[in-house]
Amino acid sequence: MLNKYIIVTGGAGFIGSHACKALQQAGFVPVTFDNLVTGWQDAVKFGPFERGDLLCRADIDRVFEKYTPVAVMHFAAFSQVGESMQKPGLYWQNNVMGSLNLIQAAVDHGCMDFVFSSTCATYGDQDNVVLDEHSEQHPINAYGASKQAVENILSDFGAAYGLNSVIFRYFNVAGADPDGMVGEFHQPETHLIPLILNAIDGKRDALTIFGTDYDTPDGTCIRDYVHVCDLVDAHVLGLKWLQSGHGSRVFNLGTGDGFSVRQVIDQAKHVTNRPVPVTHGARRPGDCTKLVSGSLRAKTELGWSADRSNLKQMITDAWRWHQNGGYIK
Ligand code: UDP
Repeated sequence: MLNKYIIVTGGAGFIGSHACKALQQAGFVPVTFDNLVTGWQDAVKFGPFERGDLLCRADIDRVFEKYTPVAVMHFAAFSQVGESMQKPGLYWQNNVMGSLNLIQAAVDHGCMDFVFSSTCATYGDQDNVVLDEHSEQHPINAYGASKQAVENILSDFGAAYGLNSVIFRYFNVAGADPDGMVGEFHQPETHLIPLILNAIDGKRDALTIFGTDYDTPDGTCIRDYVHVCDLVDAHVLGLKWLQSGHGSRVFNLGTGDGFSVRQVIDQAKHVTNRPVPVTHGARRPGDCTKLVSGSLRAKTELGWSADRSNLKQMITDAWRWHQNGGYIK
């Protein structure tokens, strides 16, 4: 039988767990590699679980030896913009050194197809520019800088050893599995939509809007939200792209539509039919004014469609998951 093992780092996290479900449905066997620092063992439902840390090369080697995987999907990372500004060392160590260990191990074990989660934060603040894969990268926070560094490592390993990589630059990922098997659950929570839902059902007093004086129509930041299920579908397509020998490529994953923080709040009011308690706060260091994907590349080259990525659907799915209560450690 053809080996169908895929190492999924961060498979116990929000996006990684959804990717495992999509991989299983596509006939692969996702092997979750996760240290459970931010992930949840209860999110590992679609294949074997291997607890380990990317900063420990022996942990990584053990998993490559056990499964002889055909590819790696690398989600594991710290991903909070605000935290990355306060603790940049954490981001450079975990995201860059951990990724370097993994990439070196993949090459050493002859596993030459690699899918990587990067971010629109690598582009930085580019006033009212539509961001496509040709846009220059000038990250303004340590999170984005750490992801850009890993992109560069992949490029160098591609040139030196023939490692093939698909790099996905995510815009803002939201929503949850419509079947309710997995969803977004961080402790502490820092992302906009789950925080709005927490404010709606009284788990927090209010949602603080970080900055109301941005140069946008309503003064709040604009982001491009993409449904996690659409996002992980692109990963399966990216894996197949690599397996058909197309070689390395970068793809943005966004919809091209931008929504302000206030527009997201209004849509959450509409979906839940409940008020959202709001306070106004200072800008969060590291935040870009506007991040909107202008790319059609994933659609035209991978055949990707983002059918579920409208705000109403994303908040509806997130709300259903939210009401189920999340995971327990
Ligand atoms: N945001 C906010 N209040 C919060 C959390 C986030 O106003 O409590 C804003 C944040 O400034 C950004 C947008 O919501 O403009 C999305 O932030 P999030 O942390 O969800 O994702 P990011 O864009 O940082 O990856």
